[in-house]
Amino acid sequence: MKIQSVHKNDKLEIVKIEEKNGKCYAYALSSPFYPDGKGGQLGDRGKIGNVDVLAVSERDGFVVHELSGIIEPGIYNVQINQLRRKDIAQQHTAQHILSAAFIEVAEIETVSFHMGEEYSTIDLDIPYVEPEVIEETEDLTNRIVQSCTQVEEILTDVEGAKAFELRKPLSDKIKGEVRLIKIANLDISACGGFHVDNTGEIGVVKIIDLEKVKGNLTRVYFVAGERAIRYFRKYNNVLKSLSRQLTSSIDELNQRVEKILDELREKSSLLSKVSQDYAELLKRTIENSDFVYLEGYTEVGNFLSKIVGNQFLVFYDGSKYIIGSKKYDVRNFVKALIEKFGGKGGGKEEFANYIPNRKLSATDFEAVFSEVYNK
Ligand SMILES: [Zn+2]
Repeated sequence: MKIQSVHKNDKLEIVKIEEKNGKCYAYALSSPFYPDGKGGQLGDRGKIGNVDVLAVSERDGFVVHELSGIIEPGIYNVQINQLRRKDIAQQHTAQHILSAAFIEVAEIETVSFHMGEEYSTIDLDIPYVEPEVIEETEDLTNRIVQSCTQVEEILTDVEGAKAFELRKPLSDKIKGEVRLIKIANLDISACGGFHVDNTGEIGVVKIIDLEKVKGNLTRVYFVAGERAIRYFRKYNNVLKSLSRQLTSSIDELNQRVEKILDELREKSSLLSKVSQDYAELLKRTIENSDFVYLEGYTEVGNFLSKIVGNQFLVFYDGSKYIIGSKKYDVRNFVKALIEKFGGKGGGKEEFANYIPNRKLSATDFEAVFSEVYNK
């Protein structure tokens, strides 16, 4: 695996310790730990002495390690998580190949790259990409991966780099040593991250999603190596579980779900009609009462504002009380309930909601009704 060669041994000198907000930060002038987010890449994890490295950043010429425990300045043995590095190298080299393949297939340039813990993204300099282009690019990427091509590292300087046809021109900020990553005649890019030695080590690259971003760019989400296998395993299990629950083959899942949703829409509409009929029936039974307490379903509660008349109605729908009346200002009632029993609520003159801290009884409401309206 090709890694940056600025720190050649596995010793690390911590020159300064800072404790802030319960966290410990260890400062070094140079470190084998790759910083988080540098060049779009994930940073290293591992141990400094016996404590874990939780995050790595660069600040004012120092490499800053956030640690799980406190240590003193000094020279430490370090251990770097090599499995994580291998994963990072797979995702990063996959990105070089994917970006080169987009150029090869459709002359689409990559403008940025970001690696996450679950998936990585590249932003393409185009607002929309045809599905056929995505498939062709994915296929070409995997053919290159499976061709087991050597990934060469060329160390040169800014002047020396001019002899190569780089995928992206060198940034003006780059001075001194320049590291080029060359994958046969397909791609040559300046890059300081981790890469595999041979494209075959990437295993497989899968584009998993597309998103339009920043108005005119397309973000391509992808996974490579073991992440691709984990991704396939996870979603394959989801599909198998759905197929079992919906008693349908995976190929017919879409049709099955459409049918279920259609049935659900029909049932909802029927339930709404039945609830309205029921609310109107209720209206007839309570017409001659002054105070009415009822318990029922939300679906019925939804129609109460249409049926409530001069009587005072308290309706419990299983989670909240709906209070309505055309004769009394119900806001006074809700206010009194909150004063007496806590909870919260509010609404308009003829209709309000009340959510108590506990369920109340019809007698509780009747008592408050008498107090508020002198009944
Ligand atoms: Zn790279």
